[in-house]
Amino acid sequence: MVQGQVNSEILDGMEDFTFESRIPEDSFGTGDCAICLNAFEHGQRLLVIPSCRHVYHTDCIRPVMLRRSTCPMCRRQISLEDPAGRNENESDSVV
Ligand SMILES: [Zn+2]
Ligand SMILES: [Zn+2]
Repeated sequence: MVQGQVNSEILDGMEDFTFESRIPEDSFGTGDCAICLNAFEHGQRLLVIPSCRHVYHTDCIRPVMLRRSTCPMCRRQISLEDPAGRNENESDSVV
């Protein structure tokens, strides 16, 4: 696995959605995107990072995830898993 970027498996596994008028209740969104600093607008594609539930524009977060593997807001590792649902150590790193 390549360090320093989110692999395409994770990218493909994340579902983005069209912003209607409110962000999902289980996400940690403030109503705007921490990357471009613009508010989410109706009809835009948004993406929730599963591992920390921060919300970004899909178009903003995707290029970021190709360069780094951590959330720009909280710097947690981006993964498809919700860390709240597991407390084991990271055993999925391939040697
Ligand atoms: Zn944005
Ligand atoms: Zn985050």
